[in-house]
Amino acid sequence: MSKYILVIDEGTTSTRAMLFTPDGKCHDSAQLELTQYYPEPGYVEHDAEEIWQNSLSCIQDVIAKAGGGDKIISIGITNQRETIIFWDKRTGKPLTKAIVWQDRRTSDICNALKDAGHEDMIHERTGLRLDPYFSASKIGWALKNWPELKEAGDHLAVGTVESYLIFRLTGGLHISDATNASRTALMNIDSGEWDDELCDLFNVPKSILPQITDCVGDLGVCNTDVVGHAIKICGSAGDQQAATIGQACLKNGQSKATFGTGAFILTNTGTQSRRSKNRLLSTIVWQIDGQRHYALEGSIFVAGSLIQWLRDDVKLITAAKDSEEIARQLDNNGGVYIVPALSGLGAPHWKADAKAMICGLSFASSKDHIIRAALEAMAYQSYDLKAAFTDDGGEWSELRVDGGMVNNSWMVQYLADILNVKINRPDFVETTALGAAMLAAVGSGLYKDLKEAAVMIGDTTSFTCTMEDKERKIILEGWQKAVDFVVAD
Ligand code: ADP
Repeated sequence: MSKYILVIDEGTTSTRAMLFTPDGKCHDSAQLELTQYYPEPGYVEHDAEEIWQNSLSCIQDVIAKAGGGDKIISIGITNQRETIIFWDKRTGKPLTKAIVWQDRRTSDICNALKDAGHEDMIHERTGLRLDPYFSASKIGWALKNWPELKEAGDHLAVGTVESYLIFRLTGGLHISDATNASRTALMNIDSGEWDDELCDLFNVPKSILPQITDCVGDLGVCNTDVVGHAIKICGSAGDQQAATIGQACLKNGQSKATFGTGAFILTNTGTQSRRSKNRLLSTIVWQIDGQRHYALEGSIFVAGSLIQWLRDDVKLITAAKDSEEIARQLDNNGGVYIVPALSGLGAPHWKADAKAMICGLSFASSKDHIIRAALEAMAYQSYDLKAAFTDDGGEWSELRVDGGMVNNSWMVQYLADILNVKINRPDFVETTALGAAMLAAVGSGLYKDLKEAAVMIGDTTSFTCTMEDKERKIILEGWQKAVDFVVAD
């Protein structure tokens, strides 16, 4: 009878639990959708109790599918990053809603800190930008505006999603792995510690923060009263870092792009933490035995969420997958472009208050052109990042892609055409979960290191450029005009 690694993947829109065999095959899974709360324009919240209850339910479901807790070797966790949760240490219960990474409520705080000249120092220490995206300004805002947090006094605990999950699973261990900690803007990514000056700047007392740990090893044991089984937690990393590992981007220079709710492109830079000249981020991609490995990252805030918006709010499509056939049956975009700044613009522009735009419409335009423009926008946003990575010395010789959107083969081919690089798509696209399984496999001693654990990774399909340079140039001129307008507005 097989034994499995149980991966918990806490995405922005859903929780999944998956069972992996030690050779990397996904045996079974369970999934529950997560409610999104938009209490005001620019605000995005989650209910952390729902995150926990959904996780517990998915975990119990797959443990039953595995044939019992003794069939689980260990747990690996991966999660939406930067989202921040506030809870009471005594009960583990959330004190307020979680503030989600997409939330822009702290734009003014970040602008004021920028105006006061703090951005260079923050970039130097954390590798990040001064932007509401990262957790620090969100924590400072919540401590000031939510009285429940003051009332909790010494019982207040704060952490990212994996930190909360580990706290609930273990019944009280307050830790955060280095990849997640590196996204708070409170950690010095070279020393691997919380930074006193940054904590002061964002008004965050260090005492409420978790202890920073490696991504593999002994990350706690599930409390039998909670989960029913004393299963070890042996791996943890933020979703984009886990996907980088699950795509086997283990060597300096290897790159991956994940197209989920947002899109995130990471290039491994080895044990060197570089600083970008082009407003890319530096981030910890994993930490094992205290040794940190780094990546340059370009974050695009709106990717699949644009398709979701077209489906749920504008109602141009009934299912995300319908976008593929619609795009394919058009000869071209008819001059229609979408700049999808629905929650500001991320890298390389970093314009928190930018607003989205659809342009180039005429009576010849149909709703299909808008749908195609939405998919095309993924390629254009990636193209802008490619130029930034190249200038920072991280040129892509190939790009490995994953995430829900890459099920759309038309979009992947268009990406190859616009980027003019070979795109590799793994046949098993759940690379985020696979990366967490690889970390847990190393953490539980099944493999010596990530290089050995890479045997868990399966086959890929390649897409190569079929577009003429001349055509690409004309298309990109249209995009450039549109994005320049949004950035300048
Ligand atoms: P996350 O992990 O961020 O929650 P996923 O990686 O599961 O997201 O990707 C889901 C996103 O991908 C959704 O926003 C959905 O709109 C989009 N998506 C899924 N399938 C397709 C498709 N065939 N074409 C275009 N977009 C798609």
